[in-house]
Amino acid sequence: MFDISKLQVKPGDKVKLNRIDPQETIGWDGERDEAEARTLQLNTRLEALQELLYAEGKHRVLLVLQAMDAGGKDGTIRHVLDGVNPAGVKVASFKKPSALELAHDYLWRIHARTPANGEMVVFNRSHYEDVLVVRVMDLAPKAVWSKRYDHIRNFEQLLVDEGTTIVKIMLHIDKDEQKERLQARLDEPEKNWKFDPGDLAHRERWQDYMDAFEDALNETSTKNAPWYVVPANRKWYRNMAISEILVQTLDGLNMEFPPAPPNIASTIIPD
Ligand code: ATP
Ligand code: MG
Repeated sequence: MFDISKLQVKPGDKVKLNRIDPQETIGWDGERDEAEARTLQLNTRLEALQELLYAEGKHRVLLVLQAMDAGGKDGTIRHVLDGVNPAGVKVASFKKPSALELAHDYLWRIHARTPANGEMVVFNRSHYEDVLVVRVMDLAPKAVWSKRYDHIRNFEQLLVDEGTTIVKIMLHIDKDEQKERLQARLDEPEKNWKFDPGDLAHRERWQDYMDAFEDALNETSTKNAPWYVVPANRKWYRNMAISEILVQTLDGLNMEFPPAPPNIASTIIPD
């Protein structure tokens, strides 16, 4: 059994990102092809669990994905959610806030996209940008962003109290891996569209981002809304680890199909 707790930031712990090797395959000593086979099995399991989530219509599931540029958020969504029923799963991508969004508090746009009963929502970036990019690129003064860890803990607790299961994952790549992936966006014509020259300004501030990530992880990993740091240089390991986290979290909800309508055994469908 893959032990997902090894990837979890324990509440109260002080995680140090430079002590987690993005190349590692924590909790897994098998080969790549075994991991890929396992991911396929987990996909099938996730499909069934998501069907149950949708049918039962009781729980709400929120998966938050954060990473540096080219960290693999899109690829994760593509691989991990392969096969789930699109009717019950939504992806919410958070970009630079619009003028309307900026005219509200930073959680306004976030709250509006949180999952309803029976839904699973994946946040591709999230309210954590408001203590990451906002902090590193000085988009708000420290007096403003430093209060947000408290807001976020309280906001997430509200969601949990009202029936949401929250899983937060940081895809942890290193600077060399990012260079390779950004270079591929320049070199491969079909990836050119993904290249954003603005990413280079963020890359220059790599260490500041790591510091901001560490504070976010340490301040907001709670029992009810834990953070997982997934080494993500190797995509096959990343996909398997995230599938495991999702499957084990959904399994823990002990969901059941709703009771069958009465007299189902004796009901005859007329010709
Ligand atoms: P990729 O990783 O493939 O480049 P992406 O998630 O970066 O995909 P983009 O559309 O390129 O998608 O970028 C979204 C941008 O929006 C990021 O630079 C991010 O930092 C920025 N952003 C998101 N939320 C906020 C926020 N609250 N304030 C300011 N900028 C934000
Ligand atoms: Mg980008």
